[in-house]
Amino acid sequence: MATLSTNIQYLKGVGEKRAQLYARLGIATIGDLLEYYPRDYIDFSHPCAIISAPYDQPCAIRARVAAKSPEQRIRKGLSLFKVLATDGQSDLLITFFNAKYAVAALKEEESYLFYGRATGRIGRREMASPLVFPDDPDLAFSPVYPLTEGLSSKMVAANIRQALELADGLDEDPIPPEILLANRLCRRRDALENIHFPTDEQALAKARNRLMFEELFYLNLAMGQVKRTSQKEAAAPMGPVSMDGFYRLFPFALTGAQQRSIDECLADLCRPVPMNRLLQGDVGSGKTMVAAACAYFAAQNGCQTAMMAPTEILAAQHYQTWSKLFAGTGISIGLLTGSMGAAAKRAVKEQLADGQLSIVVGTHALLQDSVAFDRLGLVVTDEQHRFGVSQRMALAQKAQAGQHPHVLVMSATPIPRTLAFIIYGDLDLSILDEMPKGRQPVKTYLIDPPKRERAYGFIRRHLDAGEQAYIVCPLVEQGENSPEGLESAVEEAQRLARESFSGYGVGMLHGRMKAAEKERVMADFQSGKLQLLVSTTVIEVGVDVPGATVMLIQNAERFGLSQLHQLRGRVGRGKAESFCILVSTQTDSPRLQAICKTNDGFRVAEEDLKLRGPGDFFGLRQHGLPVMKIAGLLEDIALVDRTRAAALAVLAADPDLTLPEHTPLRIRIARMLETAGA
Ligand code: ADP
Ligand code: MG
Repeated sequence: MATLSTNIQYLKGVGEKRAQLYARLGIATIGDLLEYYPRDYIDFSHPCAIISAPYDQPCAIRARVAAKSPEQRIRKGLSLFKVLATDGQSDLLITFFNAKYAVAALKEEESYLFYGRATGRIGRREMASPLVFPDDPDLAFSPVYPLTEGLSSKMVAANIRQALELADGLDEDPIPPEILLANRLCRRRDALENIHFPTDEQALAKARNRLMFEELFYLNLAMGQVKRTSQKEAAAPMGPVSMDGFYRLFPFALTGAQQRSIDECLADLCRPVPMNRLLQGDVGSGKTMVAAACAYFAAQNGCQTAMMAPTEILAAQHYQTWSKLFAGTGISIGLLTGSMGAAAKRAVKEQLADGQLSIVVGTHALLQDSVAFDRLGLVVTDEQHRFGVSQRMALAQKAQAGQHPHVLVMSATPIPRTLAFIIYGDLDLSILDEMPKGRQPVKTYLIDPPKRERAYGFIRRHLDAGEQAYIVCPLVEQGENSPEGLESAVEEAQRLARESFSGYGVGMLHGRMKAAEKERVMADFQSGKLQLLVSTTVIEVGVDVPGATVMLIQNAERFGLSQLHQLRGRVGRGKAESFCILVSTQTDSPRLQAICKTNDGFRVAEEDLKLRGPGDFFGLRQHGLPVMKIAGLLEDIALVDRTRAAALAVLAADPDLTLPEHTPLRIRIARMLETAGA
């Protein structure tokens, strides 16, 4: 007997080979297969008459096979079959290529549904290589699945049909009946049957609604469970202290947005419940100063701050800026990254544990068990979208029992409210919607590779004027398997130092270099000793060298829009006019043209979102969230609210989901958190 966790090889027609194809799609069990939802449907509910079929547009035609021609061999490996079909009114000449068995299966005088693009002229309409379906009056929609090579929608549909028949346990619904009722959701079996083989549009809408609800409901339950531990606890208490000492530490005036955000944070820090605030601001908007103000405030309150950054380069940079900023204040700062020597690490850990250090900046290394604090009051994560939920929780857990630290997360990626709501829960938001004074928008140009030498000349003129530049390459190094035509940082740095930039200080930076080497290169670039930095995307997040004014990005088509925007954010950080030159053979690409037109990160994100879809764009996996199979996280805030309320009600009554009626839920959630790596 088959259950939802039975291996798909149990199904007829699924052998080892097809199981491997399914594995590529992440499908191992019958349950996985049933949750592999169609990406689209072929609509048979309104088939066209042959005469009025739209020209060269996909459409379905119901027609009877009138005659079949014998196989015609066009050349070796290519044979052609012609089939004449009619709908009683006009004829349709259908051609198939290399489709011996499919054509043999067509019976003369029998009616079929043909789906394809009709061309030809009136009186002689034609269709090439249509999909063929039996003329089943109950077939209103045929599912179209996201596929991998070797699998067709037909195969998947046949396997799913069988799975729906055989699988035991479909009638058990993990969602409690009162929730089904209150939200007018259809049963799970009906939903699965109709998402794959809808009888009509209404049934499909009901199925979608139920499955979207289910997915968001589980997600909310999972997040609720993850968060529960932290919410019970009280915050490290802090009280008002004068910030005058802090405002004297730097030469510029804060922007209005920075000041407002700082005030919002400091008010939170004085409350008895932990701060849970997202600071969102475009690249270069000055998020680090807000974090610094909070760290200063915490230090004046005798509390420690841990700031976690996603890369060693960024951590080292924050450490240096803050060491300079806080010099003379008596606030002591340490750095902790994975690549530091054991003795240095141990020393920092000791100083953290006994309270000698007020601030520690670091990478994931901060999460190690051996890291303990004397009095952790504030946790800051920079470039939050790079961290998983679980990592953020792990750091927050390091405060002593009963005192949850305040949490500030910073991100340049605009997150839609729906998604933020799920990831962060009752999260407060501060937005830096104002750039520091004197910033000029980065001018962005798109050029094709033959113009590159001229661009190098442009860069040289800026270097001669005492400015600095980046050249970004998609690869570290050319290898046997590197796709052709891609620039690599290693070769490019060597060539440029020899040719176009001989006589200039050229440095190289990529992720495979030793940490000490990376640090030295960054320091040399920061101090101006290096004028040109040839690098991979390791500089993408957060690197801040105000003297850099030009960035050239090789093979720009290889990068996502938001990534290009982040990269571009490395220039335009000082007062001088800055430039970003995108080099690509695809100079007519709408994506690349779009980024030339706007400097606004939110607009770029919108554009990116349109092109890529939410799952990929927001890196749900990076957030430590399972990828949504069906729910559109962007569209339906009302549904997010409803599922959240339902999930909270369940958790309020049964926090650990230990009641017998919640067992199926508990199992699902556990599996979800496991696959998400939380
Ligand atoms: P991001 O928001 O991208 O993290 P940063 O915090 O790195 O931005 O700030 C970018 C640069 O702007 C830094 O060199 C920082 O010192 C500078 N900066 C921050 N705030 C101001 C301000 N109010 N006026 C002028 N420069 C500022
Ligand atoms: Mg930053």
